[in-house]
Amino acid sequence: MKRTAEVVIVGGGCMGASVAYHLARRGLTDVVLVEREQMLGAGSTGRNAGGVRHQFSNDANIRLSIESIGLFERFKEEVGADIDFHQDGYLFLLSTPASVEMFTANVALQRRLGVAVDWLDAAGAAALAPGLVTDTVIGATFCQRDGIADPNGVTMGFARSAQAAGVTIVRDTEVTGVLVESGRITGVETSAGTIAAPVVVNAAGPHARAIGRMAGLEVPVDPYRRHIFIAQPPSPARRWDVPASRIMVIDFESTFYFHREGAGLLFGMGDPQEAPTFDLSVQWEFLEQITPVAARRLPALTDAPIARAWAGLYEVTPDANPIIGAARDLPGFHLITGFSGHGFQHSPAAGRILADVITGRDPGMDLAPFALERFADRRPGGERYVV
Ligand SMILES: Cc1cc2nc3c(=O)[nH]c(=O)nc-3n(C[C@H](O)[C@H](O)[C@H](O)COP(=O)(O)OP(=O)(O)OC[C@H]3O[C@@H](n4cnc5c(N)ncnc54)[C@H](O)[C@@H]3O)c2cc1C
Repeated sequence: MKRTAEVVIVGGGCMGASVAYHLARRGLTDVVLVEREQMLGAGSTGRNAGGVRHQFSNDANIRLSIESIGLFERFKEEVGADIDFHQDGYLFLLSTPASVEMFTANVALQRRLGVAVDWLDAAGAAALAPGLVTDTVIGATFCQRDGIADPNGVTMGFARSAQAAGVTIVRDTEVTGVLVESGRITGVETSAGTIAAPVVVNAAGPHARAIGRMAGLEVPVDPYRRHIFIAQPPSPARRWDVPASRIMVIDFESTFYFHREGAGLLFGMGDPQEAPTFDLSVQWEFLEQITPVAARRLPALTDAPIARAWAGLYEVTPDANPIIGAARDLPGFHLITGFSGHGFQHSPAAGRILADVITGRDPGMDLAPFALERFADRRPGGERYVV
């Protein structure tokens, strides 16, 4: 294994791979990405719903989306991989006046930033998603350029391109310590030995707090389990009343969401009662909580057999915004984590920004909303569209 590098990236999910890719694009290839699993993308990246949207509630996240979706649209030409990107839109269903009021302000913000978002009534929403019941819906928003992409395609696209440029990717190797001397980063300890490096990137997703502690820093990222279920059509002979397109539908009040996944339907919902955990086992009893909500919105799910289910971890910060940038109090330590349930879609822009920071370029964006130090400084703000 390489014993020295200019940059060590801890974690081979979509974030670590994106940083590696963007560093290589900037000519910095003396980089080692260290992943403890045998494959890249085995963490949250390999367990997510693939959703990609412009519709966020704060300026910084909308800007991350605009840049990231631009790259998803050009991914094949620019990065060289197929990511199965379908822009069939995201439909948010709103059932309370408070949500309508919040979305009204946020649609104005999204439009000011150049995003085309439509307001719909219940009938308009139902027309976009056959099989959907919208009787309690009092408003909806839709953005056609939102969609679904393949997280593993994106991660492997970034990783392969970085590797081809000279970046080293080490799998099956765990970072066990972060080395600090005289208040500066000097490298990492791994299960396969030490790598000396002046720059370390914490891209460990839900495990970011542990990597931070190795460096003596508190990184407020907690793991929250989220389930995904895949329903199959009940029988080939029966018509299944679900959308034919891959539109992503989100019932904002309950956070129940679904989209087509092959012949089946992928769906999930947040559990506000769940405490932080690293437990990835499927809680089948949680399906009993989703079923009534799902059946009310999409009756075709009532008797559809469940073919598969899995759980993954959201990496959640106190304000549901990510941490992207250099740690102020520990020169050389960088972070790209805490995306709070919507990281996959922001990996292109977030990786580009961090690569700019590391190589001393202007990231072209105010990074204060993403600073690690904002939690200590108690800066107000944060993301409200957490699904
Ligand atoms: C059920 C679910 C649905 C989701 N749906 C969406 C969605 O629709 N759209 C969206 O944008 N986002 C979604 N997300 C969120 C998204 O998956 C994450 O924000 C994103 O994958 C985070 O990527 P990451 O690279 O930071 O983390 P990860 O993919 O978890 O990668 C971190 C890597 O670090 C490695 N690692 C950890 N510790 C060490 C160590 N000590 N040494 C070496 N390696 C280490 C891990 O093995 C892992 O591979 C969803 C998440 C879940 C769980």
